Amino acid sequence: MNSNYLTDTHFHLDLNDNIEEILKRAKENGVNNFIISACDLKSIKESLEIINKYPVYLTIGIHPDEINDFQDDTINYLENIIKNNPKIIGIGEIGLDYYHNQTNKEDQKRVFKLQLDLAQKLNLPVVIHSRDAYLDTYNILKEYNLKVTIHCFSGSLEVANSYIKEGYLLGIGGVSTFKNTNLKNVLKEIPLSNIIFETDSPYLTPEPIRKEINEPKNISLICDNLCLIKNISREEVIRITNNNIKRQYNLEEINN
Ligand SMILES: [Zn+2]
Repeated sequence: MNSNYLTDTHFHLDLNDNIEEILKRAKENGVNNFIISACDLKSIKESLEIINKYPVYLTIGIHPDEINDFQDDTINYLENIIKNNPKIIGIGEIGLDYYHNQTNKEDQKRVFKLQLDLAQKLNLPVVIHSRDAYLDTYNILKEYNLKVTIHCFSGSLEVANSYIKEGYLLGIGGVSTFKNTNLKNVLKEIPLSNIIFETDSPYLTPEPIRKEINEPKNISLICDNLCLIKNISREEVIRITNNNIKRQYNLEEINN
């Protein structure tokens, strides 16, 4: 990765997107390191084509809303494609979702743990989706010794601190720019060494362009907002968040 540029650590692309244009607009806005996320079987398949063509890294896993995709051989399938694709640098997003509750809680936990076992086996970091499921997520993760990112973090200071105590990173996105969010107060209190940026695009567009479709270029808005909240320079925020990402994903410095 190139440390002079911002990084979008979590977003979604599919083959119908105009990927070249999206990445070009990002670079024009100072965002030029990319990690996409694929979390059902169809998008995993598509993303393998995308990483062959474009300068993006990838994390894969089965999302808790998608565990109907998870069959007996799925864990072996995931393991095989990870071993054959060095651009797959993590497992996620995986986790628990008791808000949508589209799938059975016990099934969610079983699939979550199988994927955490795989991360442990392959020594890969994980990206966690947790919605209305803090306690179960926290307790399950504590059984493992993994590098963890809590994707799309928007919880309380108490929850943030419990994750930080374990050394986890918090993925901060568009929600941090929303007018009535408590996340701004939380961000004031927590160290930059536990923060990385993500757009989760095409979802969760930041202020002041919430009506637009989200894109990685908007990491720039999310970063500027954090600079204001914490009263730190953009250079400092870029330097520290990129160091966090390099540590988490074992990425080498490159200059492009
Ligand atoms: Zn996502």
